[in-house]
Amino acid sequence: MTHAQELSAEALADLRERYRTERERRVRSDGTRQYLGADAEFGYFAADPYAGEPAGREPLRDRVDVAVVGGGFGGILAGARLRQRGIGRVRVVETGGDFGGTWYWNRYPGIHCDIESHVYLPLLDETGYVPKWKYAPGEEIRRHAVRIAEKFGLYADALFSTSVNSLAWDDTSEAWIVTTDRGDRFLATYVITATGTLSALKLPGIPGIEDFRGHTFHTSRWDYGYTGGTPEGGLTGLADKRVGVVGTGATGIQVVPELAESAGHLYVFQRTPSTVDVRANRRTTARDVGADRDGWASRRRDNFLRIVSGESAEEDLVADRWTSTAGLLEKLLPSFRRQGDRDAFETAYETADAAKMNEIRARVEQIVTDPETAEKLKPWYRYACKRPTFSDLYLQAFNRDNVTLVDTADTHGIERMTEHGVVVGDHEYALDCLVFATGFSVGVSGVHSGRMPVLGRRGVPLRDAWRKQGPRTLHGFTSNGFPNLVQLGGTQSASSVNYTHVLDEHAVHAAALVAAAESRAALIEPSRASEDAWIAALSQGAADHEWFHAECTPGYYNAEGRGRPNGPTAYPHGAVAFHDLLKRWRAESIDEVLRDRTVAPGHQSASFRSPDR
Ligand code: NDP
Repeated sequence: MTHAQELSAEALADLRERYRTERERRVRSDGTRQYLGADAEFGYFAADPYAGEPAGREPLRDRVDVAVVGGGFGGILAGARLRQRGIGRVRVVETGGDFGGTWYWNRYPGIHCDIESHVYLPLLDETGYVPKWKYAPGEEIRRHAVRIAEKFGLYADALFSTSVNSLAWDDTSEAWIVTTDRGDRFLATYVITATGTLSALKLPGIPGIEDFRGHTFHTSRWDYGYTGGTPEGGLTGLADKRVGVVGTGATGIQVVPELAESAGHLYVFQRTPSTVDVRANRRTTARDVGADRDGWASRRRDNFLRIVSGESAEEDLVADRWTSTAGLLEKLLPSFRRQGDRDAFETAYETADAAKMNEIRARVEQIVTDPETAEKLKPWYRYACKRPTFSDLYLQAFNRDNVTLVDTADTHGIERMTEHGVVVGDHEYALDCLVFATGFSVGVSGVHSGRMPVLGRRGVPLRDAWRKQGPRTLHGFTSNGFPNLVQLGGTQSASSVNYTHVLDEHAVHAAALVAAAESRAALIEPSRASEDAWIAALSQGAADHEWFHAECTPGYYNAEGRGRPNGPTAYPHGAVAFHDLLKRWRAESIDEVLRDRTVAPGHQSASFRSPDR
């Protein structure tokens, strides 16, 4: 934890009170219902701007070994790790027109990763690629996703511009029937779901949103046809335009400097300011990161994970603002608290947090020349209440004459939209274009969301099973009643800020499960007793996050102020301990999840026998 000078009890009490008032200003009674999905009349917001009209093809009726739902890093890593295990026919099904997931969809100007590229980009040791920047631009990351898919031969069987409609377990063939929106109906012996966590874009449910006659789009579907330019900038189409942007989260922070550079006038509609710390991006060489040594990337990635998970580490290889503020990350709270008595911990934590937040607020004052604007840009909450952001361009943009900050906290966001623009208080801001940097829904893309019905043994929908009894899994991957279904990055596992590392560990585990089932001609299915034991393990320490989120300003981390982490329980001892646990379990206990098949391997029910296999 950051060491800081002890603050007086009064100073801490004042700060707590300020945080409480700022939170109260923002909590809305409609919580997560304030948002709209890109459905029905708003469906066009989600259309794929990059793929064009998908080429026609015959619906598939064949059988594959593994169907992977989702072609982002989760799905790509699952495919790569399956290939390393010698699994033959792997079909990735992806809604977008290519591999890449979040990096396929998000191509907005200014897009970069704010986790160091050398630990974020997976399989660097295996592909021999060395990133060129400390924080890579989005296109470099997207190309790396394609590089992995090519290297591991995932294009051969992939289905793009295709969404899985449903998964249904078929006892006769002991396989999943996969149906898609392109009329496919094929069998897969195993299914791995890698559907992402922040993949469904959301829009603010602003009254009158449909009345606006200007141009609108979401940052995850950037309309370069309208703005001109590329992710590197040069948005010449905006030169004479009045542009608005709603949202100042991690995306907004990256987009605003580019819009400011190009727009005739830019209005930034802010509800809650982000913490904006130093970024210090720079070119890097292979030498800088020790890329001449075998296994350099996985060593670096492990080192980063240890530090941001609160584990001891002899050195700090990445040495950036994530590692220097690791002690303030919310995910570490349970493990820190166990180290001492609760009151002493909370005072030490609050003191360190206050020091960091004072530094962040002082940075705003140093950079933003207009004192009134600077005051509005200061965040008043604890560091880990919202995703920290990093930029050396964002705050500077507010010193430009063509940029206006419009604070909407008192009105709980933009009040309404009209034909001509946006209304906040008694002022209507006339706009030609409004960009929604309003983020993504949480928990709508998983197997329990109902968007993609998953029917297990006897046709039982997973959603119904979990609605009645809560999520039930072993390690977050597998569930009783849903054989040969492996969920990646799901609930009841452990996460980290370096999410691709988490996905890769999960992919290794998923591939090991499939390989074990193949080698023993078995099904993967945990017993209810295994699930019970896992749920009991999760409940130790799970409540520790609640006090923290209850005091946080609203956002997707705490279900818009509901006061507890959004989503079901996670493994409480962090990602490093979770990965160690999985490794031990694979070595010693993997048989626990294997069940005898009743159908001989390779059997196909008549209706699915396919000539193209
Ligand atoms: P967020 O959910 O973080 O931010 C949405 C923004 O929209 C918030 O500022 C929110 O305000 C604002 N908003 C929503 N409704 C309204 C309204 N009615 N009026 C005014 N403002 C409104 O989404 P992002 O896309 O910024 O980020 C999502 C996540 O994606 C990040 O947390 C991060 O995990 C990931 N990401 C990662 C990046 C990386 O470099 N690795 C880069 C970009 C994103 P309020 O805060 O008040 O709710």
